[in-house]
Amino acid sequence: MKSKLFFITLVLLFNIGLTAAQAAPLKVVASFTIVGDLAKQVGGDDVEVKTLVGADSDAHVFQPTPNDAKALKEADVIIINGLGFEGWINRLIESSGTKAAVIVASNGIEKTLKMEEHEEHAGHHHHKHNHSINDPHAWQSIQNGRQYVKNIAAGLVAADAENAADYTKRAAALDSELAALDAWTKAQIETVPAEKRSVITTHEAFGYFADAYKVTFLAPNGLNTEDEPSAKELKALVKQIKSGKTRALFIENMSNANVIKQLATESGAVVGAKLYADALSGENGAAPTYQAMFRYNVTALVNGMKQN
Ligand code: ZN
Repeated sequence: MKSKLFFITLVLLFNIGLTAAQAAPLKVVASFTIVGDLAKQVGGDDVEVKTLVGADSDAHVFQPTPNDAKALKEADVIIINGLGFEGWINRLIESSGTKAAVIVASNGIEKTLKMEEHEEHAGHHHHKHNHSINDPHAWQSIQNGRQYVKNIAAGLVAADAENAADYTKRAAALDSELAALDAWTKAQIETVPAEKRSVITTHEAFGYFADAYKVTFLAPNGLNTEDEPSAKELKALVKQIKSGKTRALFIENMSNANVIKQLATESGAVVGAKLYADALSGENGAAPTYQAMFRYNVTALVNGMKQN
């Protein structure tokens, strides 16, 4: 009896060992949920994806831990957004000593949007520095999302040629799905009269959405969630809301809602739905995938704008 059990255990162990050797998934570390989800969709069961900045979390203010450095060190492939979105990633990659290939998902997007950043320096002479920086939130246009998929697929193929056909096939299916989602998004926005297509949200995360789908986004905070709006900027937004032109106020899933709540109180407007800006939701939330995020955001935006 005892020896039979031992034999079964041995056979089981042997089988587990074989399975692992045959299909050890490629270790992928993604900087945040958007590229993490696209990597999962393109990689399927050929990859094991770990995401550093998790669901509903803010990559702008992320503080990496030694565990994150360890994950990078053990990774076969690292996927980042680029365009300066993850201000902390280059130093983290360097300090981790990783040899993994780094895929920059936003490489080769059709148009990189620029933003004027206003920096105020207090001193004897109060002066302003304006400099132009890249808007990193490129994933908020589905055409750019398709470029992300292309880059991620190419990176996975390069790292794991054995499963190239799988990656290519999944990427092609996802690309068709995204092309259809892009057309759907345009059609949905067109159901809102042109003069009503404006909303207010927390920070400037929707520049690419605005450009692609012709919606005006106003935001008290700049490209970074850490920026603080000036009293003058807030006053201008309250005026905009009171004029009745823009009454659709949105909060974001991963940033502080206080400024939007303050605007609502001062203007008498109602805070509308939550938008998924820089992070997806968890599995049981409203936006667990890139496509779900668009379907959810577009529906919320259209409903909000119709109230303008
Ligand atoms: Zn952002």
